[in-house]
Parts: sequence; structure tokens; C-alpha cells
Amino acid sequence: MKYRLTPLVLILSAACFTLTAQTSAHRSCGTHGEMAAPMIERLLQNIESLRNHPVRPRNIEYVPIKFHLVAKTDGSGRVTEGKVLEQLCALNADYLPMNIQFYLKNGTFNYINNTAVYSTHTATVNTIMTFARDNAALNVFIVDDATPAGGGVGGVTLGYYTPNKDWIVMRRDEVSATSVTLPHEAGHFFSLPHPFNGWDAEGYDPAVHGVPAPAMSPGGIPTEKADGSNCATAGDFICDTPADYRFEGNWNCNYTGGALDPMSVLVNPEERLFMCYMEGCQRDEFFFSPIQQELIIEDLNSNARNYVTPGYVPYQVEITELPELLAPINAAVTPGYNIVNLEWSGVSGATRYLLEIDAFPNFSSTTARYVVFGTNKILTNLAANKTYYWRVRPFAEYHTCSPFTPNGQFKTGTGTVTSTGETKLVENWSVNPNPVTAGQDISVSINSNERFEGVITVLNTIGQVIYRTENLELTQGEHDFRIPSSFLTRGVYIVALETSDVVLTKRVVVGN
Ligand SMILES: [Zn+2]
Repeated sequence: MKYRLTPLVLILSAACFTLTAQTSAHRSCGTHGEMAAPMIERLLQNIESLRNHPVRPRNIEYVPIKFHLVAKTDGSGRVTEGKVLEQLCALNADYLPMNIQFYLKNGTFNYINNTAVYSTHTATVNTIMTFARDNAALNVFIVDDATPAGGGVGGVTLGYYTPNKDWIVMRRDEVSATSVTLPHEAGHFFSLPHPFNGWDAEGYDPAVHGVPAPAMSPGGIPTEKADGSNCATAGDFICDTPADYRFEGNWNCNYTGGALDPMSVLVNPEERLFMCYMEGCQRDEFFFSPIQQELIIEDLNSNARNYVTPGYVPYQVEITELPELLAPINAAVTPGYNIVNLEWSGVSGATRYLLEIDAFPNFSSTTARYVVFGTNKILTNLAANKTYYWRVRPFAEYHTCSPFTPNGQFKTGTGTVTSTGETKLVENWSVNPNPVTAGQDISVSINSNERFEGVITVLNTIGQVIYRTENLELTQGEHDFRIPSSFLTRGVYIVALETSDVVLTKRVVVGN
């Protein structure tokens, strides 16, 4: 059957040099023309092998993905890790029908601080970006301007896939659960063209191209007929995606422009295909057609994709709960500002935590972000006498759908402390029993090194103080304080010991 393929590839290659730029202000994909030719070759091979070996039932295949989060040289402008986690969660929902799931390679991200990559990445594809490429993962570079070499097809380029480098470049603003740019570009990675293949760079305009539409598209691909009779040799070569000539304008997900195919039959495109991404469609209505799905699987099974199918099964434990923010205690003033320990409880399934700190509760200013491996982070860069908001988002290499915790809030003190999370005043302290049965008092034992004044506070998990002692004078030695059971119904509490230089916390579970 190879004889049928060769002419199409030749037609495409010849057409690539006739593409013209457009000036309309629409949002578009940069995967087209000469750049996309090797992708079409793979598509035709996949169609051919599908013909010989129909797709069989199969287990979930896990594909490593490496997100390159690009910032300016000074580190500003970078997409937030939270957006990337949300994006990966959505991508996995999009590819679940194919039993393909993506996971963060090595459980984390790659950071590039370089204004050239961020703003004008095309000059860096053979240097910085090639050096950064992970050769055993699907690479996604997230930059400010995703316009490909040679320019986009008009308007803002949201992203593109380049077979030459076999990677995806995405515009930072397109990284979210509501965007369809990544599932679309990943579709290109798996060899799918646009349903309007041939019209990619120059959408059908009756005033320019005539009525009915010509039999040959501006890109040199035969125009697909509305009845699908030439579907195997025209348009995207995929027979369950209807004819589409990239109709300009925002049709609000329902094209009613009345275009006529070369046989003068009304064209009715499928607006909700991921590979079409017409504006105005509902996010949850986008889909890959059944044959597109088979071709994606066929592509993943091909030798060209061996490097993204290592056979590794990522950590499977689901994250079903959110951490509790333990310290600083909600709304508390920290003993000092120069060293502040943020601490939260670990949750099952999480191997990493994204920590965000900001001066505003909507995290709208220059949010500090940290990917933390444990359950605390000591900050040494906060200002004195200032209110901060913080939140934590648990994740693991594959499970990235957890939201952030509700906000915690604290105010920094004006003094300086020499350490946090520990103090020379207290040798050790404990809360017993823990867990405790409801109805039973708990005992706080403190072994102090020297005389000091302190306060014991009990808070619930949303930071409300439910019990607080008077100022306690502790001499050197052992002390025991009883917290009456009447304050403790079933649940989780934080017992805090505040001294002049630190707040120590313990988590207590009151059960049946
Ligand atoms: Zn595209």
C-alpha cells in the first residue's frame, strides 16, 4: 500500500513553500506546513499499520513528561507550578479514553532562567533548549511567546509541536485546566494533523478562494468532501473527522458560515475536536474521534515512541486529603521575622508539596513558591511586621489533581531569632496520650532547661483557639499540665507551646 502514501508526502512537501502569513488576530496553533511534514509521514505510517493490526485492548501506558518552566534571566515571569499541576491533571483526563497517562519525569520540573528562551525562544532551539531536552520524556517548554520559527499563522500562537525536535512549546498563559492547547499539541506529538489539514495557514474565505471551495487546498492537500468520499486521501486523511477548512471568526462552537465543498455540498465541521479547537466550545465537550484515538495509540506503540514508553509505573497511592497547616499558628505573630518555620502535616500519597507565600490572600503579587520534599520549610527572606498568606498543595509524580489547602495567615514579628522549631529553653516536650480517646484529658509534659514564661494553646485545624492557659511560669525541670477533655471532641488539634523566642507545635488526634 506504500504507493498510495508517497504522492501525498510529495504534495505536502511541495506545498510547504507556498504558505502565506495572515494578519488576523485569532489565536492559533503553530504546527503547520514544512515543519509538520515529518508528522504527516508518521500519520500515514500509523494509518497503514492500523490497517494491518487493529488496536487491541491494552493496559494503561504511562508516559513521562518533562515540563520546562522558563522565566526571564532574573527569574520572573515563570508559569506557576500550581498551573502546571492543574494542567497535567486535565491532560490525564483528556487521554484516559486511550489508556494513556502522563507523569512528571522524576516527579519534578526543570527550571530555565533565560530571557532569550522566555521571550524569543526560536533563537535558542539548537542550544539552550536542546541541552535542556530530556531524551527520555515528552518535553514541554513553557515560554512567554510561543511563536515558531518563521512566524505563526497570524494572531497569537498558543503553542506548537515540532517533529524536528519532537517537543512542544506552549505559551505560558495557555497552561491551565481550562485550556485545550496541551491536549491538542500532544495530539500532534502522536501524529494527528488538524482536521483542516491543508487549510492550516490560510483558512477558507469564499471571497479569496471562490465558491464552491476549490478541490485543492492552499497547502496543496486535496480538499476533503463533505460526504467523506475522498477522506482517505484528503484533508487530515482521517475518515471519522468531517471536512473542515479552518473557518475564520468566532462561531461560538457552531459553524454556520455555509461553506460549500468542491461538489457544492454544505460543509459541517466537528467544532469540538481537540485537533480543531474552535473558539466558544465547552472545555468538557472536547474529544478525539475514535480513529484519532486509535492513531494516537498506534503512534505510541511505534518504534519512534519507544523513548517515552519506559514501562515504568508511577507511584499509585491517591491523595485524598489535604495537609493541615501547623505552624505558624493561624493568625499568630511569629517570634521573629528573620527565621520563620512553616510546617504542615504530611498526607498519604503525597511525595512533594508546593508551598506558596504571598502578601495578598489571592496570591496575586510576587508569590514565593517552593517545591518541598518534606513537611516544613524555613524561610529567611520575610520582612518584619508584615502579614503573609500561605498555602500548600500536595502532589506526586502522577497524582497532581489535589487543590491547595485553605489559606493560612501569620504576621512576622519585629525581633530576630537565632533558630526556629527549637529553643534552648525547652529540653523536650510531649503530649500524652496521642491519639487520645474522646472524654479523656491530655497531659502536656515540658522539661525546661531554665526558668521561662510560656503559654499553652490548643487550636482546631482552622486555627481557632479553643483553649489557652494563662502565662505559665516554668522553672528548670519537669512540668505537667492537664488539658481538660471537655474542650476536645473528636477531631485533630494543634497543641502549641509559645515561649519568648519560639512557637512549638504538636498535632493531636482525638478519636473514639
Ligand atoms: Zn495544532
